[in-house]
Amino acid sequence: MKKIALLPVLLFVPFFVFLGMAGAVKTSQSKAMTEEKHPANPYYSRTDTTKLDLPDSVWKKVLPPDLYEVARHAATERAFTGKYWDYDGIGTYYCAACGNALFSSDAKFASSCGWPSFFETARRNSVIYRKDTSHGMVRTEALCGRCGAHLGHLFDDGPPPIGKRYCMNSIVLDFEPERKVR
Ligand code: FE
Repeated sequence: MKKIALLPVLLFVPFFVFLGMAGAVKTSQSKAMTEEKHPANPYYSRTDTTKLDLPDSVWKKVLPPDLYEVARHAATERAFTGKYWDYDGIGTYYCAACGNALFSSDAKFASSCGWPSFFETARRNSVIYRKDTSHGMVRTEALCGRCGAHLGHLFDDGPPPIGKRYCMNSIVLDFEPERKVR
């Protein structure tokens, strides 16, 4: 009699163990997806759109050196070396310094320039502009609309109908793949 009573239990135990394992995997995945990617940078936020006006010394403290050089000193990564110049993932590109939404992958296009290129921004205020006369050229500098990080430049040789090319440094972009809505 005991054997008969135990049978359903023995059958269900592996089932519940499996459920428990699946739950643990799901929890760790969602934690990884929402976990702060920039633990050293308390100003990074994907939801807070409050403008940041921080001194250079603060940025130097909270950003990795290579990102700091591009974002705060307008350094440029070498063409064809960044991680996104020929990347075609579906999702959103955020400012790597502050988390501001900058571009959708829908606005990315294949450009031969060697840097990730977009024809429009994610939001009207995602990017702000400044005249740049450095290196003997007159260009339009593109900066993050929230934190003022140098992103790259805006040119007028993009694809129609908009005709714009946001020529960006990969290092100041933080890509988040699109989540499937069930
Ligand atoms: Fe920013």
